[in-house]
Amino acid sequence: MKSTPCERCCKLVPAHDLTHFTTKAGALLLCTQCFNTEVAQLSGIEDFDNHPLEPVSITAADGVVHQFHLRTRLLGAIVTLDAYELKENEPSGYQFQLVGKPDEDRFVQLGRLVDRIRRTLATQYLEDGRAGFQIKDMQVKGAIEADMSDEGDLWGSRMPMLVIDGRDVSWEEFGRMLMTFEGFQFKLEMVDKSDDLAS
Ligand SMILES: [Zn+2]
Repeated sequence: MKSTPCERCCKLVPAHDLTHFTTKAGALLLCTQCFNTEVAQLSGIEDFDNHPLEPVSITAADGVVHQFHLRTRLLGAIVTLDAYELKENEPSGYQFQLVGKPDEDRFVQLGRLVDRIRRTLATQYLEDGRAGFQIKDMQVKGAIEADMSDEGDLWGSRMPMLVIDGRDVSWEEFGRMLMTFEGFQFKLEMVDKSDDLAS
């Protein structure tokens, strides 16, 4: 497990729990708790709930249990609540983000996020066929990440790695899946990370 010390409290934390905090004096790498404390002070927010939230486990339609780590970040006038799965201590699989207000009850926000996660995990877009995973119906939803195994082009652009049903699907694999629908039309719509894709 690769951990880095927070430059404020010196606690060793994994990379997914660190945030760059930039001030006029320079940039600091802070743990989530110290980051929120700094932003709360700067924004004049005195009663910000900065307690870390315990991970939650949610079962998907195929019976697989997914464990979500939770991270709250205060970003001035907004709070982001992230739920993410980890593989070898790196975010991998389903990722969710909810945007709320700093003074909103944390458990109300968590309730909204868990509801969204449940609804998303209730639908699966891929099925395990004879030739590997295939698109089950006529629709597929997921997330676009970067394929870190791709070295990238001259400008550093990597190929996409899609995350569908919490599973990594390479651009090539996805291309093969699409060929089930050769001759069909398609529509592709981008949706912000914090918007509800399940609805
Ligand atoms: Zn810290």
